[in-house]
Amino acid sequence: MLQLPFFRKIHQAIQPFVLKSSVRWISLNLGIAIAYGVAARLSLDFATLPNKVSAVWLPSGLTTAWLSWFGPQNAIPGIFLGALAALLPDLWAISPALEIPNFIALAVILSLGNCLQPIVMVALVKKITGLPIDFNQVQRVAAFILSTIVGPALSATLGVTALYRLVPSSPWDRYGISWLTWCLASTLANLLFTPLLLLWRRRSQFKVPSYWIERLFLIGLIFGLSWLTFIKSYPVEYMFLPLLIWSAFRLGSFFTSALITLISMIAIPMTARGLGPFSTRSANESLLLLQSFIAVCSITNMILTASIHERKVAELALERTLASLEQQVEMRTSELQESKSIVDGFFASAPLGLGIVNDELEYIKVNDLLANFNGQPIIDHLGQSIQKISPDRASSLAPVYRQVLLTGQPILNQEETRTTLENPRSPRTWLMSYFPIVTHDLISKVGVIVMEISDRKQLEQQLKRQARQDPLTSLSNRLHFKEASEFEWKRCQRGAQPFSIILMDIDYFKRYNDTYGHLAGDTCLMQVAQLLKTIGGRSGDLVVRFGGEEFLIMLPGTDTIGAQHVAESVRQRLRDCQIPHSGSEVGDYVTLSMGVVNCIPHVQLQIDDLIQKADEALYESKRLGRDRMTVVTIAPD
Ligand code: GH3
Ligand code: MG
Ligand code: MG
Repeated sequence: MLQLPFFRKIHQAIQPFVLKSSVRWISLNLGIAIAYGVAARLSLDFATLPNKVSAVWLPSGLTTAWLSWFGPQNAIPGIFLGALAALLPDLWAISPALEIPNFIALAVILSLGNCLQPIVMVALVKKITGLPIDFNQVQRVAAFILSTIVGPALSATLGVTALYRLVPSSPWDRYGISWLTWCLASTLANLLFTPLLLLWRRRSQFKVPSYWIERLFLIGLIFGLSWLTFIKSYPVEYMFLPLLIWSAFRLGSFFTSALITLISMIAIPMTARGLGPFSTRSANESLLLLQSFIAVCSITNMILTASIHERKVAELALERTLASLEQQVEMRTSELQESKSIVDGFFASAPLGLGIVNDELEYIKVNDLLANFNGQPIIDHLGQSIQKISPDRASSLAPVYRQVLLTGQPILNQEETRTTLENPRSPRTWLMSYFPIVTHDLISKVGVIVMEISDRKQLEQQLKRQARQDPLTSLSNRLHFKEASEFEWKRCQRGAQPFSIILMDIDYFKRYNDTYGHLAGDTCLMQVAQLLKTIGGRSGDLVVRFGGEEFLIMLPGTDTIGAQHVAESVRQRLRDCQIPHSGSEVGDYVTLSMGVVNCIPHVQLQIDDLIQKADEALYESKRLGRDRMTVVTIAPD
């Protein structure tokens, strides 16, 4: 979309009546043609040195900018038209008058020459850099400078050759100077005005601070230096350069370009009036001096500002990279902090003792529970060896840690039972697990998990006890008897010690139940059991509820007489209890029949053989009338 307000207003006004694109195209090209004509007039009026030599052919500088802005199809007709309009009065004034065909040919060729120059420049820069004309990179500036030589040279060759061919009065010995004049004036115009216009259009691309006071101060300095140079004739013209460098660094390419234009606008008319250092007796020499000065200023500015811009772009890219790196570092840091706080939180809140030990067997992390387990505060653990923290356990712990480090295999659920200072009476039990921690493909650390299982252990023991206990009488049951008797049997066998059992059965108990009821029967069983619990008392002695109303007393290390004595004391105590039993045929109270068996255990004899014998002896007591004991001693073979 066209940006210029003038054209936009015209365009908006006539839009309802005509085709949008054609109106724009016509108004644009007419505008270009008029602007070309005005610029040509200005060049002739203000930039012309003695002998009608124009130092700067302003329209040339404008055409390249226009072509860059609007594209060839939108700008060339206007340029052609403007050039034609500007040339016609001069061609008309040639004396003697040209023939009509020559007049037309010359007008067309010269106008085409003016169109050729911007086309060549834009194409050349595009060819070299692959990009349109711009001044933000040194490479593009260099290509542009080259194009300001090639473009005008081609257009001058075309134009001047046509002039000398078609105007008969032209002296061929002036060809070279005419060519050079055309060429240099165009080159200079391109160096001055193309950057000025293009930079003005793209000034937002080069963000520079305003610094208005500095700008005004610099403009003041330029005027002051111009006064010294051109009015006072001091040889200080190259002092303009440091001022321009200052501007390039501080105030940007557009402002510097504008300053160079200002200097040129002062230098050209001053030189035209014969003032200043560029004014010599020879017009050509004056022209060359002035043009070279302006060219040096312009080229210096373009290259300098482009490299400053490149540096700024690189700095910006670097800053962005740094910022993004910083952002990444921040992100990673917060991620790390997050995962660290998760790990810390996990360690702190886990209902288990947790710790990490390095390959030197030093604690590098422990939580409260593990610290308590080891009996030292957390802080004292860090960096300390297991030897230092748990001197009494280190000799058993170290091989475990080393094994995990060496094999990479975990060691799980190792039980450890010991008493603690807080409660030296009841032992506590823990399950310890050790597992390898792999970092960077290396087993460098060992994790330890400590879980207290004292409650579970107690429950286990309780269940174990219950499994071996008769629920009604709380006496040992047959399972317990089996385990205990095997142990004691072997012990007596090793020590060749006697081993006795008393098997007893309540007489007429069925009738007891029938008489007093089953619940009373249970109470009777409990009374008998209670009585039996007070019997014996030597280590290894065991009272067992052997069956319904059958009881057994195991007496390891007791001989026949001892066993007989125990059996008798049971009967005596039962008698003392006087538990009424009206259904009994042997008395008024509950009585027991007993089979007492003794042996010295040996390899051919089994505990079951002993029970068998006791059963037979008991049966014998029943047979003989109950409420008695039958004693059997198994003689050694
Ligand atoms: P004997 O003098 O020949 O031993 O005669 P008995 O009646 O005692 O023997 P029997 O084997 O015929 O009967 C045993 C009775 O013991 C039968 C059963 O009801 C009773 N009994 C067994 N266990 C329990 C128990 O836990 N509670 C009660 N109340 N009675 C039981
Ligand atoms: Mg019985
Ligand atoms: Mg019985």
